[in-house]
Amino acid sequence: MLKISGKGNIVAMETGTAGTLYIVSAASGAGKTSLLRALMKGDDRLCFSVSHTTRQPRSGERDGHDYHFVDDAAFQALVEADAFLEHAHVFDRRYGTSWAAIDEDLAAGRDVLVEIDWQGARQIRERMPGCVSIFVLPPSRGALEERLRGRGQDSDDVIAARMAAAVDEMSHCTEYDYIIWNDDFAVALADLQAVIRARRLHVTHQRIMNGEALSALIDADSRHG
Ligand code: 5GP
Repeated sequence: MLKISGKGNIVAMETGTAGTLYIVSAASGAGKTSLLRALMKGDDRLCFSVSHTTRQPRSGERDGHDYHFVDDAAFQALVEADAFLEHAHVFDRRYGTSWAAIDEDLAAGRDVLVEIDWQGARQIRERMPGCVSIFVLPPSRGALEERLRGRGQDSDDVIAARMAAAVDEMSHCTEYDYIIWNDDFAVALADLQAVIRARRLHVTHQRIMNGEALSALIDADSRHG
C-alpha cells in the first residue's frame, strides 16, 4: 500500500499513500540553512534528501552526507539511467535529486525535505503534484545585501553578482505554495512548522495515517457493532 519505489509509482504520491515531499528554496543569504537545521532538529518524522552535485566539496562537507559528490561523467550517466527526479545547472554546476534519495523514506510514510533551486522545484511540481513547495524570503533587499556582505571580505562586484543571482532566484517565489518571511528567526521557524503541521492534519493524510481510528469512529459497522 505504501509502495512508491521508482518513478513508475508517482501515482502513490498523488493519491496520498506515502509521506509528503517538501521542497524548500531560497536565495542565498535568506537564512534557509539555519532554519532547516532547526526544523529538522525538532521533528523526527522529517528526513533530509541528499542531492548529487558536480561541484567540489567545501571544507567540512562530507560525501554522502552533505552531497553525493560526483564528476560530470558520473552525473551524466545517472541522467541517462533516469535516476533523477529532477536535475538542473545551478551556478554552472550540476545538481540533482535522485529517486533513491527519497523513495524509501516516502514509501515508509516519512516526510522528506529537499533543498533545491527553482528549476528543480518546477520539475518536481510537475511530476509529483502532491508535493508541498515553500520559498523562504529575506525581509527586504537591504537586509539581504547586509547578510551577503557578511564579514565584509568581498568586493562590491562580488556582492552585486550575488545580489543579482538572489533576485533572479526570488523572482520565482510566487510559483510556490507557501512563502516564509525570515525576518524574525523564531517566527519563520514557527511558520515553517505550521505549514508541515497543517499538511499532516489534512484529511488525505489522516485517512492514511489514522485510517483505523477513523473507521472505528465513523464506519457504519463500528457504530452498530
Ligand atoms: P550549494 O552548492 O551552495 O550547496 O547550493 C547551491 C544551490 O544549488 C542552492 O540554491 C541549492 O538550493 C541548489 N541545489 C542543491 N541541491 C540541489 C538539487 O539536488 N537540485 C537542484 N535543482 N538544486 C539544488
